[in-house]
Amino acid sequence: MKIQERTIKKIKEALKNEGWILLSAIYKEKHIRIKYLCDKNHSDEMYWSNYQAGCRCKTCNVIKITDDDVKQEFAKVGWTPLEAYKNSTTYMKCKCNKNHEFYISWASFKRGTPCEKCQRSQQMFTELFKEIKL
Ligand SMILES: [Zn+2]
Ligand SMILES: [Zn+2]
Repeated sequence: MKIQERTIKKIKEALKNEGWILLSAIYKEKHIRIKYLCDKNHSDEMYWSNYQAGCRCKTCNVIKITDDDVKQEFAKVGWTPLEAYKNSTTYMKCKCNKNHEFYISWASFKRGTPCEKCQRSQQMFTELFKEIKL
């Protein structure tokens, strides 16, 4: 088997694991350009190297988010998700580092929405501080 055939077989396998179908693969200089059909039936082209770097379907354009991703991202701001992730707009119950429980969607989290109760106490603190100063 030629190297090229072997690489293409490898690509085909990798795509299959994600529910994608490899339609064609073209060698362009040192790069391989693949034509794919993603698991949502979008057909497009991309470089294999980009796929390997973690890029996915341009049409879907949303990285598949898993519970682990949510946990990791929430942990960065000291939050803990208490419910499983469904999709980016579904509200899930979570807890901040001050043990406030609240509902937030992944989309609003990504927009930088803070915990409402924390924000309120922060505001109260600022106002209190202002009063003391006066
Ligand atoms: Zn797609
Ligand atoms: Zn809070």
